[in-house]
Amino acid sequence: MSKIGVLAVQGAFAEHEAVLRGLGAQPVELRERKDLEGIEGLVLPGGESTVQGKLLTELGMMEPLKAAVSSGLPVLATCAGLILLARRLENDPAVWFGTLPVAVRRNAYGRQLGSFTATAPFKGLGNVEMIFIRAPVVVSTGPGVETLAEVEGRIAAVAFGNQIGLAFHPELGRDSRIHALFLERVREAGQRLRL
Ligand code: GLN
Repeated sequence: MSKIGVLAVQGAFAEHEAVLRGLGAQPVELRERKDLEGIEGLVLPGGESTVQGKLLTELGMMEPLKAAVSSGLPVLATCAGLILLARRLENDPAVWFGTLPVAVRRNAYGRQLGSFTATAPFKGLGNVEMIFIRAPVVVSTGPGVETLAEVEGRIAAVAFGNQIGLAFHPELGRDSRIHALFLERVREAGQRLRL
């Protein structure tokens, strides 16, 4: 049973935990540094990326998580999580993990009225229903970044090594296939974070 750390300082983490449990994984809520011990994968949920990034830093989790992700710990990042991973933000000077070589625009669909659902093909899965909430968009990708999904010509999902970044919220629908793909990567990677 894979032990998956789910960042639980702010945002939509409980929904990810439910999906992971449904797939037979063991979610662990990450609230302080010692919670990181032994995790085999990481989920960065949606929410408010600035708040999450500040809390990760203040609580001493940023440095060990960034090191682990840089050395191949699988991560599934949704929405605010994608913003945390991005190497550059087009409309914000902050860089948090900076481990995913993409540029991202925050709140790319407008701040309040930017929530919608779309169905689009996702690499390896066929059509997937995607729920966007004040979503970011990937505006450019660096070498080695694979685009996994596009919605109306805008990149909605990318992969780079063991990092998967999604502009939408797979934890809010009934489809657990993206989490299942992530858990496959976790098993293949066979990593375990040691503090
Ligand atoms: N708009 C949020 C941000 O910029 C992300 C929205 C979300 O995670 N649903 O941090």
